Amino acid sequence: MKKLTVHMMVMVSLMAAAVMVAAPRANATVKIVAASPELADIARSVGGNKVSVESVAKPNQDLHMIEPRPSYVTKIAQADMILKVGLDLDMWMDALINESGNTKVNKGGPGYVDCSVGVKLMELPNSQITGASGDIHAYGNPHYIYDPQNGKVVAYNICVGLDRVSPANAAYFNANYQAFIAEADAKMKVWLHELAPYKGRPVVIYHASAIYFLRRFGLKEFATLEPKPGVPPSAAHVNNVINAMKASHVTALCVESVYPLSYPNTVVAATGAKLEVVPYSVGALGTKSYFEMIDMWVQKYKQALQ
Ligand SMILES: [Zn+2]
Repeated sequence: MKKLTVHMMVMVSLMAAAVMVAAPRANATVKIVAASPELADIARSVGGNKVSVESVAKPNQDLHMIEPRPSYVTKIAQADMILKVGLDLDMWMDALINESGNTKVNKGGPGYVDCSVGVKLMELPNSQITGASGDIHAYGNPHYIYDPQNGKVVAYNICVGLDRVSPANAAYFNANYQAFIAEADAKMKVWLHELAPYKGRPVVIYHASAIYFLRRFGLKEFATLEPKPGVPPSAAHVNNVINAMKASHVTALCVESVYPLSYPNTVVAATGAKLEVVPYSVGALGTKSYFEMIDMWVQKYKQALQ
């Protein structure tokens, strides 16, 4: 990043006039359209008052099920930057970008940021993807955002993208990025400490969305209420989960706020498990930022495991 920044600075000083024509001025606002409220919040942290950010997905909208409004084509047509979750979670963003005709934010364009770049992916497919099975999570598990270490990777990708589209503000973006990393590291110490007593404990989840969070904090996925990602729970499968929970004395059940609670309540009635609902996205359950969202996950998991 430092190398890139210095390079950009030199470009600005040597070819000021040319660069000013090609890139927004230092005081121009960079217009960002993000796929999810999490990416939007991290972009606000890194971009500060030099960016305006909107999210296509609203809080508590399942990212696998988004049908974006046509108005987003217009917004993307006017955007300087787009932020994608990547993998197969927000392929609807590609359709919007294509429709917009905005080459700046097309794949390979200066304003195209795939936030998954550099994330160590889990559940990578071990056989070739044919599309025949219709599975979701076809390119690996896309729910990496619930591990705060990956939030740092996202912030890095956004910072690099901002340096590219608004090089005159690179120093400002880099300072905000460093502040974000410092805050994430400080909070991580606290979160690790809070969940340390529960290391190795099994948790039942609804969709396979929590696996990056579980790995980070040393917790174990015992079962999912969905028989496989994207396939809704069935009575037969939930019954199997209930029997396995009883046999192994598993008592924690954590469900993101986007899922219906009928089957989770069935599990609670049958096993006496502690059910906690965690925010699916920034803005869900009253959370106002990415760090607040992760903090609520830590608190709710703690409660479920007590
Ligand atoms: Zn998923």
